[in-house]
Amino acid sequence: MTEVDKSAQSQVTSIPPLLGASLAELTEWVQQQGQPAYRGRQLHQWIYQKGARSLTEISVFSKQWREVVADVPIGRSTLHYRSPSPDGTVKYLLRLADSHIIEAVGIPTFTRGGEEAWDGWEDNPSQQAKSKERLTVCVSSQVGCPMACDFCATGKGGFIRNLKRHEIVDQVLTVQEDFGQRVSNVVFMGMGEPLLNLDAVLGAVKSINQDVGIGMRSLTISTVGIPGRIRQLAEHHLQVTLAISLHASNQALRERLIPTAKRYPLEALLDECREYVQLTGRRVTFEYILLAGLNDLPEHAIELAGHLRGFQSHVNLIPYNPISEVDYQRPTPRRIQNFVEVLEKQHIAVSVRRSRGLEKDAACGQLRASKIAQPV
Ligand code: SAH
Repeated sequence: MTEVDKSAQSQVTSIPPLLGASLAELTEWVQQQGQPAYRGRQLHQWIYQKGARSLTEISVFSKQWREVVADVPIGRSTLHYRSPSPDGTVKYLLRLADSHIIEAVGIPTFTRGGEEAWDGWEDNPSQQAKSKERLTVCVSSQVGCPMACDFCATGKGGFIRNLKRHEIVDQVLTVQEDFGQRVSNVVFMGMGEPLLNLDAVLGAVKSINQDVGIGMRSLTISTVGIPGRIRQLAEHHLQVTLAISLHASNQALRERLIPTAKRYPLEALLDECREYVQLTGRRVTFEYILLAGLNDLPEHAIELAGHLRGFQSHVNLIPYNPISEVDYQRPTPRRIQNFVEVLEKQHIAVSVRRSRGLEKDAACGQLRASKIAQPV
C-alpha cells in the first residue's frame, strides 16, 4: 500500500458510522454534504427500515452523490455464525469492523400482558400459537466483560473493549431482519456490563427507541451494579426497566460469585436501587441465578425477602446454565419451586426464567467461546 492509499484509508475509517444517528443528525449531515434536507429522511428510512448496509445501495440518491459518499460507513456488522434452537431462539455471532466477535440472541416470546414476556412464563400450546407476536433481542454492550463473575462464560474470557453505539443498534436490526419480524423488546443481557459503557448504551437506547421505534418500557438494562452508576442512569429519568444481577442474599456469598462486589456493599447497591425507583417511578427487577446447594436453600430465600420487603421490585430466578469452566449445578425443578414458594409466602413477587436455547452453548458467551475460531 502506498503512503497515499494509507492516508485515504485512515480518513475513511475515521468517519463515524451513520447507524445510531437521529433523523436530525442525519439531516444535518446530508446538508453539510450539500444535499437538500429531505435526503436526511430518506437516509433515515433506508438505514432503519430498509436495512441499507452501504450508501451505494440507496437508489433514491443520485449515482454521482453515491460515488462521493461510497466510503462513508453505515456501521453494520457481518454474520459470523448463526445457531437456531428448536424452541425458536436464534443465537448470532456478529463480526465487527475490527474483526472482534460478539453475541446477540433473538428470542421469540409469547403474548401475555406485562413487561417482560420472556421472563418466567411457561409456554403452553395456545401461547405458542401466538409465539410470533413478540420478539426479544438480547444485546451485548461490550466485547467480553471485565466483571469476571464466576458462573459466567463471558467473564471467563476477559474484556476486550466497549461497544460503540452503532454496534449495539446493529444487533437489534440484525435480529429484526433475520426474523422478518419487528423486535418488541430489547434486553441488555448479552456480553458485557452496560453500566461500564453508559454513554454508548444511552446513545443506543435513544436510537433503539426513536429510530428503530421500540418503546422505552420494552427495554431492559441488566447490571451487576457499579458504584454510583445506577444513580447516574436514574438521573436520565428513562422509563427503561432496570434489572440487577443480585444472585446472592448476603454480601459474603455475593463476593464469592461476583468478585467486583467487594467494592460495592449490598446495602449501598440496594440504596441506589431505591433511588432509581424514586427518581423513575419504575420498579426494579432483581435477577437471582440459582446454584444448587450454594444460594438456593430456604434460608437464602428468607434472607433475600428480608432485603426486598416493601421495595417496589420483582425477583426473577434464573436456573443456572452450566458452563464448562466451573462446577456449579443447576437445582432440580423441585428445589426451584421450593425457593419460589418461600419467597411467595414472604409476599415477594417472583418468576422463574425459562431457559431458552438451552440445548447447547446456552449461557451468555458460551457460543462465542466455542465458535470464535471458526468461520461461518
Ligand atoms: N453484566 C450484566 C449483563 C450481562 S449478564 C449483568 O450482570 O447483569 C446477563 C444475565 O445473565 C445476568 O443476570 C447474569 O448473571 C446471567 N448469567 C450469566 N451467566 C449465566 C449462567 N451460566 N447461567 C445463568 N445465567 C447467567
